[in-house]
Amino acid sequence: MSRTDTHCPYCALQCGMHLDVTETGDVEVSPRDFPTNMGGLCQKGWTSARVLTLPDRITTPLIRSESGELEPATWDEAMCFIAEKVRSIQGKHGRDAVGVFGSGALTNEKAYQLGKFARLALGTRFIDYNGRFCMSSAAAGANRTLGLDRGLPFPLSDVGEADALLLLGSNVADTMPPLVQHLGGVRDAGGLVVVDPRHSATAALTDNGAGIHLQPLPGSDLALLLGLVHIVIAQGWSDQEYLETRTSGWEEVRRSVTLWWPARVAARTGVPEELLYAAAEVLAKASPSQRGKGTVILTGRGVEQHTDGTDTVTAAINLALALGLPGRPHSGYGCLTGQGNGQGGREHGQKADQLPGYRSIEDPASRDQVAAVWGVDPAAIPGKGVPAVELLGKLGTEIRGLFVHGANPVVSAPDVGALQQWMRALDLVVVCDFLPSETTSYAHVVLPVAQWAEEEGTMTNLEGRILRRRKAIDPPPGVRSELEILAELADRLNSKARFGTEPADVFDELAHASAGGKADYSGLSHARLDDESGYYWPVPAGGASTPRIFTKRFGHDDGLAHMVAVRPGTPEDDLRPEAPVYLVTGRVLTQYQSGAQTRRVSELTKAAPESFVELHPTLAQRYQIEEGDMMSVESVRGRIVAFARISRGIRPDTVFVPFHWAGEGSANLATNDATDPISGMPEFKVCAVQIGKV
Ligand code: SF4
Repeated sequence: MSRTDTHCPYCALQCGMHLDVTETGDVEVSPRDFPTNMGGLCQKGWTSARVLTLPDRITTPLIRSESGELEPATWDEAMCFIAEKVRSIQGKHGRDAVGVFGSGALTNEKAYQLGKFARLALGTRFIDYNGRFCMSSAAAGANRTLGLDRGLPFPLSDVGEADALLLLGSNVADTMPPLVQHLGGVRDAGGLVVVDPRHSATAALTDNGAGIHLQPLPGSDLALLLGLVHIVIAQGWSDQEYLETRTSGWEEVRRSVTLWWPARVAARTGVPEELLYAAAEVLAKASPSQRGKGTVILTGRGVEQHTDGTDTVTAAINLALALGLPGRPHSGYGCLTGQGNGQGGREHGQKADQLPGYRSIEDPASRDQVAAVWGVDPAAIPGKGVPAVELLGKLGTEIRGLFVHGANPVVSAPDVGALQQWMRALDLVVVCDFLPSETTSYAHVVLPVAQWAEEEGTMTNLEGRILRRRKAIDPPPGVRSELEILAELADRLNSKARFGTEPADVFDELAHASAGGKADYSGLSHARLDDESGYYWPVPAGGASTPRIFTKRFGHDDGLAHMVAVRPGTPEDDLRPEAPVYLVTGRVLTQYQSGAQTRRVSELTKAAPESFVELHPTLAQRYQIEEGDMMSVESVRGRIVAFARISRGIRPDTVFVPFHWAGEGSANLATNDATDPISGMPEFKVCAVQIGKV
């Protein structure tokens, strides 16, 4: 038996786990005590090793034949095919005619290499990733107000020391169950405030005096937050000294919220005035300026995935600043990152506008520095591309070829019916994956890659803590790492830049390229990370780790937080009264993201075998729908068919569909690809639908 200490392959909590390899080669998972999971694992983590031995694992390159089937090929044939096709497409349509779609599941090394590959080997500006669907509004809101985007600017353990927590649009009890251990203190203090249109498993944690559940109309979260700031000011709970010394823009924000008096907010959101007052009081009384132990405000996808998502995050940060929280003990604002490397994936260059180290691709000094590390002329680095939804919208027209790494956009993107048509129009789709997925079914070439326990690398968790992901077993014969694949393809495309193949070497290059950037990793190496003492970026060369940022200054040049007055919009897809019901989407306990891995694990599919529609009994009665009936949920874009699950916990004007499944139950057949104008985040979390019994 050999034991390897590593982390779960799925979400950003990155729970610590042991992988034991028995003499017969079986891999067994057991929980490991790590500060984020405190010895816990959820069912997804417990069963994660099943994915290593699935019978449909891809172990040879596949090329689509003239008969339309994916047929086994040699690596040389596959690489030749891709290189020739790329040359042909770019020869006819220009270098931007090939795009790249990356992922927040890739290690830091792969995310970095993919950005470099797109810019130098393909020479395209069109690269973006599925984190755009996940973190972009939180990142944009934090960057504009706090001057820096690190999901949690403090260790998760700080939440455990607080007396109040405002949790907006996140169902952690299902998505990250071990995190609930950190909520014991706030629940004991009666300080857990959950904002969600459903009485989710997390909202249920507020029951029996542990807190307050606010159930606003989908799409009205921004108005709710403005109402809370209004009450904080009216009750004299704002921290004036903090606002004067650590922020700018407060006067404008203060004026803007005068329009959002509690009765108006109650009418807009459906949340009773007395609950608004109670929530504001809980948050204020626990804040340091009121001599409380601490108040934390966290946002999740439920309030971020809207066309006003960036403004909603900004309003949440304004509330935190009004209470004087960021940078104070056991207090502050943060967002809960979703994907395993959702944080690192947005730091090292696979975003359309970004170079490694969280640098802007439009900043001349950053371009010079990264070009020097890459050994190229700065002019060789293309300019800014476009966010993921816009990139996908160019498929089949401006973009003729697409590389997909670690993602399954045919299930996870908004309005997937349209995307499926665009994918069919492409001249080349290359998918790097270890399992067949709905997206590989559109591929001209599939390249089989190693997965989490078969290779070395690093991940950056929801706290901005950089972790070692360690190899426990060899990959199956025939499989290659993405680093090797990108290096060979770059070579075949005559790239002048050098592409490393060893994760530790690529990390060293990444660290060098990030030096002086906001996400500075230059003081780190695989060897240094091996001691697991907890390295939170920035970690400059020769410098210390930074578990808590903003204690003295914010990320802007003047050191202040820049408050921005915001006002609510309406959902882009508001078709009332013709379509009187709102659809919201989300996740369930035993499935992860597009389900490409977890839908194959029998223990998990037994618990959640297929898509469903959750609706209130009043709504069900109106449409004569009973528990278990097949029902439709239809927007102007597409129609979902799934069975009805009736629950008193959801608002009577709202239905919920999880987004893990493909086929007729796929939630994203109906969702809206309208995006936030600042972040490019699609409006997954509200669209108008008609429902009916099938
Ligand atoms: Fe932990 Fe997330 Fe893995 Fe569950 S899925 S074990 S919460 S890292």
